[in-house]
Amino acid sequence: MRAVDELKDKMSTAVSILRWELANMWGHVSAKSPDGNSFVLMHLRPPEDPDMPSDEVLEYDLNGNLISGRRDQPEEIFFYVYPYKARKDVGAVIHCHPEMAIALTAAGRKILPIHLGSRNFARAVPVAPWLYGLWREDGEEAAKRLGRNCALMIQGHGAIVTGETLEQACINMVKLERTAKMILLAGRLGKLRPLSSGVMKRFREVGRRRSTNTTGQSQSLVPLEWRYYESLVKKGQRWSRL
Ligand SMILES: [Zn+2]
Repeated sequence: MRAVDELKDKMSTAVSILRWELANMWGHVSAKSPDGNSFVLMHLRPPEDPDMPSDEVLEYDLNGNLISGRRDQPEEIFFYVYPYKARKDVGAVIHCHPEMAIALTAAGRKILPIHLGSRNFARAVPVAPWLYGLWREDGEEAAKRLGRNCALMIQGHGAIVTGETLEQACINMVKLERTAKMILLAGRLGKLRPLSSGVMKRFREVGRRRSTNTTGQSQSLVPLEWRYYESLVKKGQRWSRL
């Protein structure tokens, strides 16, 4: 499969995972193109034109100028442009509206690493005031507040996640929403106890031990969860959501 077709296939899988997992059709997945000079973007929302293929993508240069594509353009393009500009290690950016994570943020609560599945969120996911990616300055502000983190919550709006790969970014979005649901449940029962930095450090050693799988893919770049959910999507199966 050509690199660009492979990327489109991965984007369609990420869209299927997130549309189901977040129970929401708003948002987009994006990834740097194979040559690194542009990025491609796919809506979570299917095309309204029945003649347009569901995997239609838009391609942008790294300044946010449209290069190609027939889909309706997203309003919030600067939420993609600025994280790519700010960090060379970012290979994928996703912006969605995970409702349980938004609910936590509305109550002034933070998304903390409370279990092994949320360890990527380090001490806490940063929270930005309301921003909208239609405006350049809001995209810039979002990238600034995201910093070196892999996720940012935007008050009253949604989330931006990044990854070195699209697979990583997709699973980061899944974990963000699931962690928010866990905190909403656990927070009603008592005080939250996030993982200590000592535990997270020890678990990183486990991650290093199993860093490659039998196909030679790095497990941090292509998380095991991605391969599991990808296999379900390809079989047309769904899974139970928390
Ligand atoms: Zn949005």
